[in-house]
Amino acid sequence: MEEQSIQMNLCSTRKEKPDSDQLEFGKIFTDHMFIMDYSDEKGWHDARITPYEPLRLDPSAMIFHYGQSVFEGLKAYLTSEGKVQLFRPEKNMQRLNRSNNRLCIPPIDEEFALQAIKQLVAVEKDWIPRAEGTSLYIRPFIISTEPYLGVAPSSHYQFIVILSPVGAYYKEGINPVKIAVENQYVRAVLGGTGEAKTGGNYASSLKAQEMVADQGFAQVLWLDGVEKKYIEEVGSMNVFFKINGEVVTPALNGSILEGVTRNSVIKLLKHWNVPIVERKISMEELAKANKDGTLEEAFGAGTAAVISPIGQLTWNDEDFVINHGKTGKIAKRLYDTLTGIQYGKESDPFDWIV
Ligand code: PMP
Repeated sequence: MEEQSIQMNLCSTRKEKPDSDQLEFGKIFTDHMFIMDYSDEKGWHDARITPYEPLRLDPSAMIFHYGQSVFEGLKAYLTSEGKVQLFRPEKNMQRLNRSNNRLCIPPIDEEFALQAIKQLVAVEKDWIPRAEGTSLYIRPFIISTEPYLGVAPSSHYQFIVILSPVGAYYKEGINPVKIAVENQYVRAVLGGTGEAKTGGNYASSLKAQEMVADQGFAQVLWLDGVEKKYIEEVGSMNVFFKINGEVVTPALNGSILEGVTRNSVIKLLKHWNVPIVERKISMEELAKANKDGTLEEAFGAGTAAVISPIGQLTWNDEDFVINHGKTGKIAKRLYDTLTGIQYGKESDPFDWIV
């Protein structure tokens, strides 16, 4: 891929910034976006930062029909000294290329894409909210744009990055949620697209989420797509359990998305000499641990919430109340350490901050 420069076309007027106490997730976007085009003839080209505006796409553009697209999600954090920090962004660029590979989308130059993100965030620095726990969400994505109705990989794409100021996930401190084990629908199957970050995975997850939301659950716990026996993920987060002193998370098996937070949690636990294993874990094993009193903690891990403790898990008609429905010690320590690193309040032993 040849060296590219980024053309700058900045707005003459700027939108009014929102009040940082009232931010919702993903509803407001900054003044500019990054775009780069791909064609089979030219490769990735015409990298530019331009005003945020609607796209013009042909109604036959392939993205509208067969869903060939990928995306990422990360955040820019403002420290108390006014420094802008990204958390392990190279991991998101690597995952974007793994998703590209699965969806037959041509690879991007990871270093150049990260450079583009940094440049866009620098242009929009004033949009990073200041209030505790807030951040600027970064959404890089690639869509297939060739006007063609054949089922085949597109010959044209756009790589776009948009930014959205987001509020604190926990407004009244980290709090546990109720989760329903999903026995009917599955998120992914071995050989499918579960380990890629592609829109279809999220479209197919909506039905289960909608059904349990009506019964007062925050999310579903996804089981494997073949036997519906082994635990995979929780909502759109990776999942961890502490059983009898040992932390366990489902091993990456081809249908689980490898989270950046998951990877960071495992590294921190090892660093603290807390036993952590990646292996298969079945609902039966969990039910037994619950009965024995050895199921000590359960929590999800992902960029949005960082750590989301599970206070109750409902499987068929059985309710497992975990740690008396309270946030566990490991979950709290992980949350404090990860957010401390992200906001520049804690030392960064692994050089995760960019
Ligand atoms: N699983 C799924 C299905 C997700 O969408 C996400 C969010 N990207 C995660 C896990 C957690 O990944 P990360 O820690 O990189 O945000």
